[in-house]
Amino acid sequence: MLVLDSVNGYYGKSHILQDLSLEIKANEIIALLGRNGAGKTTTCRGIMGVLPRIEGRITMSGTDIIGLPPDKVYNHGIAWIPERRRIFANLTVAENLMMGLTEPDQREERFQEVFDLFPRLEERVDQQAGTMSGGEQQMLAIGRALVSHPDLVLVDEPFEGLMPSLVDDVADVLSELSQRDITMLIADQKTDETLELADRAYIIENGHIVHSDDAASIASDLTLQEEYLGVQ
Ligand code: ATP
Repeated sequence: MLVLDSVNGYYGKSHILQDLSLEIKANEIIALLGRNGAGKTTTCRGIMGVLPRIEGRITMSGTDIIGLPPDKVYNHGIAWIPERRRIFANLTVAENLMMGLTEPDQREERFQEVFDLFPRLEERVDQQAGTMSGGEQQMLAIGRALVSHPDLVLVDEPFEGLMPSLVDDVADVLSELSQRDITMLIADQKTDETLELADRAYIIENGHIVHSDDAASIASDLTLQEEYLGVQ
């Protein structure tokens, strides 16, 4: 579905993504694991078309998308749930969901799908998003990505800053999405939860993929985890 082939990404003179290649097949959950600053967010930004400079090849279902602006990437079926749940704090839940809609006439049906998944959002539809709890904001961030019916969702650090009980809730939701045939790339440092969800994983260091394998093999390889991900 999505293929990155020898991608190089830059912020000004800083060469961040270094010959990065990875592949996500339809219906897979892929983990992109790495320490702070390894390049996970930059990879997502590169795919979404918000890096200042990027070279190489990125294809979505066979179509070249490298260098396209974010709205065009979104129209190719890729949605992004950024780290730290970047919802629009001053807008209501409904207004945030509207921001994700590509076809406004689908509003009622698409909102209902999100509310079926997250009944709490329906109860809070007119609440200002910034006044909700961290877990509710994460649900909204996921909901906003889903209203466009994406083929692929990039999820950046979904568990960051959540209470342990909410970590389980978010993991349940991501697992439910995978059962609905949504393909996902989960970028994370928190290996346990993410490897449990993932089919395969890539390990990134200094903007380069240093290892890839089945998620179960990486989960059981503590030496590898210690080397690239720090002791969990
Ligand atoms: P984290 O877990 O901290 O989010 P990450 O793996 O997502 O880490 P990135 O945010 O992709 O890492 O950062 C990769 C590198 O790019 C880091 O060295 C970072 O300092 C650098 N970087 C990130 N954003 C910018 C920017 N806007 N300008 C310049 N350098 C940047």
